[in-house]
This record gives sequence, C-alpha cells and structure tokens, in this order.
Amino acid sequence: MKPTIVLVGRPNVGKSTLFNRLTKTRDAIVADIPGLTRDRHYGHGKVGSKPYLVVDTGGFEPVVKDGIMHEMAKQTLQAIDEADVILFMVDVRTGCTAQDKIIADRLRRCSCPVHLVVNKAEGMRREVVTAEFHELALGEPMAISASHGEGVTDLVEIALEHIPDATEEEETKHPRIALIGRPNAGKSTLVNSFLGEERVIAFDQPGTTRDSIHIDFERNGKPYTLIDTAGVRRRGKVFEAIEKFSVIKTLQAIDDCNVVILVLDAQADISDQDAHLAGFILDAGRALVVAVNKWDGMSDYQRDNIKREIGRKLQFLEFAKFHYISALKGTGLNPLLVSVDAAYAAAMAKLSTPQLTRILIDAVAAHQPPKTGPFRPKPRYAHQGGMNPPLIVVHGSALDKISDSYKRYLEKTFVQAFKLQGTPLKVQFNVGH
Ligand code: GDP
Ligand code: GDP
Repeated sequence: MKPTIVLVGRPNVGKSTLFNRLTKTRDAIVADIPGLTRDRHYGHGKVGSKPYLVVDTGGFEPVVKDGIMHEMAKQTLQAIDEADVILFMVDVRTGCTAQDKIIADRLRRCSCPVHLVVNKAEGMRREVVTAEFHELALGEPMAISASHGEGVTDLVEIALEHIPDATEEEETKHPRIALIGRPNAGKSTLVNSFLGEERVIAFDQPGTTRDSIHIDFERNGKPYTLIDTAGVRRRGKVFEAIEKFSVIKTLQAIDDCNVVILVLDAQADISDQDAHLAGFILDAGRALVVAVNKWDGMSDYQRDNIKREIGRKLQFLEFAKFHYISALKGTGLNPLLVSVDAAYAAAMAKLSTPQLTRILIDAVAAHQPPKTGPFRPKPRYAHQGGMNPPLIVVHGSALDKISDSYKRYLEKTFVQAFKLQGTPLKVQFNVGH
C-alpha cells in the first residue's frame, strides 16, 4: 500500500503550492474528462520509484469549537491519525508564530514521524532560515521553496526513507474488488450478501493500521477477493462499518484493487461526495462497475428520478455498467459479478499491435484529424503501452497537433472495437519523432 503524506500547517504557509508540486509528476490518466469535479485535497505522486498519496489538510484551526472551521479541523485530525508521515509547514517570512506552537504541541503527540518544513526559503542561507524554528522541538527543520521547487525532492526522499516499501501485492489472477461508497450506501450489507452462504476461504485479521483486510470468497465457482474499505470489519458473524468514513482508506483501497464497485444509495440524492469518489476512481484509472443499491421498495417514479439524476451528475461514468440491486434482499448480485468479471478482463486485456493498427487506420480513414495550420497529423500505427487500464500508444507525424476531441474519438473507437466494457482506456501520442 502506498504511504500517505499529510501536509499540515496554518493557512498561507504554502501547503497547496507544495501539494501541487508533489502531485503534478503523475500523468493523470483522465486529465481531460469533461464534467468531472475533483476533490483537490487528495492526490497521488511519485519520487523516483516511490509512489505516495498526499493529503493537503487545508488549514489547521485547533481552537474553533463549531461551524465549518470545526469540521475542517476534525478532518485534519483524522488525516493526522491516518498519516504515515506528516510534513508540518511553517513560513520563514512570518517567522515562528503562536499558532505554529499550538500545532507543534499537537503534532508532538503523533505516533508517526513528523518533519518540520520551513517554506519560502528561496535564496536564503539554510542556517538563517531554520534557526528560529528549533524551538518547536520537532527535530532539524528542513528549508524548502515550494514555489521554486528547491529542496522538495530531498524532502520527500527523507520523509519516505523509513517508511517500508509497499510490499508488492502477490499478483492475483482474479478480480480484487473494492466496495466504494459513502457511509450508509450499503457496503457492509453487500459484503455480507456476497459472502452469504458462500464459503469464506480466508480472513486476515487487521494488524497495524497500514494493513487492509482481504476477504477471499468464491461464487459460481469463481474466486474473488474483497478489500476492506473504510472500516468494513467483521463483528461477530457479520461485517459492519465500524469506523467513521475515511477518504484516505478509500483511496488506499482503490489503489489496492483491480475493480471498483461504486455503491450508490438509490434512496438518497446523488451527492458531491459520490461525485468526488467517482473522481478518485477515474483518477486511479480503475475498472468500474456501479451498483445502484436499495432498489427494493421504490416506486417507478422514484426509480426514474434517480436514474435521471445519475445520468446528469455522473455522466462521466458512462464507460461503466450500471446495476440496480438490493444488497439487503440479495437481488441482482450475480449479474453484478458478471460485470465485475467483464471489467476485470477488459482492464487486463492484451491487445495485439496488428489489430490496434488496423483499427487505427480504419478510424483515421473514416474521420481524419483536422488540420491545424499547415499541419495534418498522420497517425500511422499503434501498440499497447500498458494495462489496467489499457494504454494505447499511437505513432505517426505531427501528433502533438491532435485535439482532445479527436483523441476521445480514437479512445471510443478502440473501446468499441475491442468491446472493452467497464474500464477506462487511454490513448497517448508518441510525439518523439
Ligand atoms: P496554503 O494556504 O498553506 O495552502 O498556502 P498556499 O500554497 O496557498 O500559498 C500561500 C501563498 O504563499 C501564495 O501566495 C503562494 O504563492 C506563496 N508561496 C507558496 N510557496 C512559496 C515559496 O516557496 N516562496 C514564496 N516566496 N512564496 C510561496
Ligand atoms: P455502509 O455504511 O455503506 O456499510 O452501509 P450499511 O451496509 O451499513 O447499510 C446502511 C443501512 O442501509 C442499513 O440500515 C442497511 O440495512 C440499509 N441497506 C443496505 N442495503 C439495502 C438495500 O438494498 N435496501 C434497503 N432498503 N436498505 C438497505
């Protein structure tokens, strides 16, 4: 599992500037999806071969008692509890403030490593920068400039130095499913329905907080693994959501799985939280099946309404198959798993170069990329550059002049030609020559 770096500090010290720098290296697979809103406080990044998750806690107002600021403070405290490493940012231009001291007091009680980061230090001598921050008693301060990028790579390398490497998940050759959805959508009920009478083959007790639980089960003679999300844990004979909702755990589960089942509550409105979760799933490029749950006991009128709302608010999930199920009554589960199988197969599909090239050439013959200025881009051949999700690399000339909409046209064409249901697919242009 990727380690989680949490950025903490009072407003204006440069957290979001550092966040942007820490997350921009990753080429987002779905950078150009129209209508997708993102939660900009969570992102992925990589230094060298080390991937990580970053959380920007926004602000830290430990003294407020209620209202929106209180909510933010609660989120911050939860993120601090779930962090693998904390970067506590201060601002050399304002010096060490009273609020910095309050935050430092709180952070000194954390069980994970905390690094003190002095920002806005461009062009300044290190000793001068860090001197006054020693009094925060959080070890040797590190000087960086988030906006100029000075010291940032060193900082991340040091921060991740003592975090154990993500143990390579033994390559499962079957769907590893994360059930993602907001609280009360019916995730635990669905886990129990899946397991039902089926034999649970193995059950790992959670060890440390960094371990996720994997539940292996068989259905219709096929193996599946469920990954715990946000505290769906066994209590007695059944699984229940026993922890508060955690974005970090949700992101880790998305990362860890190869197929997501997004669980929506048909008896509630589609919320921003649903859209944000969908955004995380797309960002990760995961294969996806949508389960619209609690379909029992709804009138036709209500069903039409929720379908329309889903179509409007989650339009960008059109690549996924939608199922209308009742986790409680156990209806619709077999078709749901058929789609999980299909999405898994699509995500892992091996696409041959001759076939890809033929489809490309036909697509270009049917509809040429528009000329930009004197250039007419000429796609010539294609090969598969990766899977889960499938990445198709197109070669040719003047490909850097191809528009996003033409790229989407090619993506759609490949998806249809290979009948890839349930996985995003990315076309990338090789503009090297
Ligand atoms: P946040 O509120 O902690 O997320 O802070 P921001 O990232 O929004 O930054 C606050 C202000 O500080 C912005 O005007 C940034 O441009 C500026 N800033 C951030 N990093 C640096 C830096 O390394 N050097 C300087 N000079 N300014 C910075
Ligand atoms: P979680 O927080 O996502 O794990 O949600 P739970 O599985 O705990 O379910 C939340 C509530 O919704 C419980 O009261 C469930 O009994 C109820 N629920 C779950 N699935 C269904 C369903 O298919 N139909 C109906 N009517 N209620 C359901």
